[in-house]
Amino acid sequence: MEIKHPVQLNDRIHLIDGFDLGLAERTGTYVINEEHLTLVESGPSPSVQHVKKGLEALGFSLDQVKYIIVTHVHLDHAGGAGLLLQDCPNATVVVHKKGARHLADPTRLIAGAKMVYGEKFSNLFEPIVPIPEDRLLAKDEGDLLKISPTCTLQFLDTPGHAKHHFSIYDPISNGIFTGDTVGIRYDQLVRDGIDLFLPSTSPNQFDPQAMQQAIDRLLAMNLTSIYYGHYGMTKNPNNALKQVAEWLKIFMDEAQAVVDEKKGADELADRLFDLVRNHLREMDVKDNHEVYEIIKLDMQVSAFGMIDYLSK
Ligand SMILES: [Zn+2]
Repeated sequence: MEIKHPVQLNDRIHLIDGFDLGLAERTGTYVINEEHLTLVESGPSPSVQHVKKGLEALGFSLDQVKYIIVTHVHLDHAGGAGLLLQDCPNATVVVHKKGARHLADPTRLIAGAKMVYGEKFSNLFEPIVPIPEDRLLAKDEGDLLKISPTCTLQFLDTPGHAKHHFSIYDPISNGIFTGDTVGIRYDQLVRDGIDLFLPSTSPNQFDPQAMQQAIDRLLAMNLTSIYYGHYGMTKNPNNALKQVAEWLKIFMDEAQAVVDEKKGADELADRLFDLVRNHLREMDVKDNHEVYEIIKLDMQVSAFGMIDYLSK
């Protein structure tokens, strides 16, 4: 197993790499060091071993974990929550009101993920451990969670990527944990000095208007940082939000064109990939850059979600 020390983002927040899909810097778990130790995202079950190692490296015991917040119930964010909870005797899982029942009974989540991931499902996600209802705490728009005398987190209902998706505002860092609602950050490009933020339009609850509203809402907040589900933190939130809004429009225009030509998701995925690659070529990113492995996957899933949306 790869050993990687959690990344310190500021004086209270660390990021543990969960090596989702076997890839570095793809999906992360945030650790908020307050009186009630709080995690944001469990990652999928295969990431739980990395989360536990990361907590140990930070000097925390699993007994200390008080809250495991998941931004939404897609398995790459919340699939490991049940497994992790088994080793965290004092923890409660905090989830969107619309997602809670799917963590208690993951049957539909599993069926949905099998549609998207096919035969790769078991390697990527198993085991999915149901969470007892008395260890779930549901939150909705405007709800609060006090994690220390000086820190109360606030929940914002932010659909667009999924209806069971909230974002979590941290007043101390003036930052927000956004899961997938306002896009994906490609940490692999940051070391080349390139900030790329693409929308994540997975099936089957993608809603472009709701996504744009979430982007606009966050823009109006004058945030200091955004903590992404995939992956890491930006300290330039407004640039990131504006960029993802531009790509969302480009993606939807392309999706509409593909539908008008009576072509499908594979064609759309190829075209989106080419659009992104042409953009990156202009910034001297080589065609063999490691980031393309991830972008390829993301364009497939996003294409699937947009075609699904447009066919409704
Ligand atoms: Zn995700």
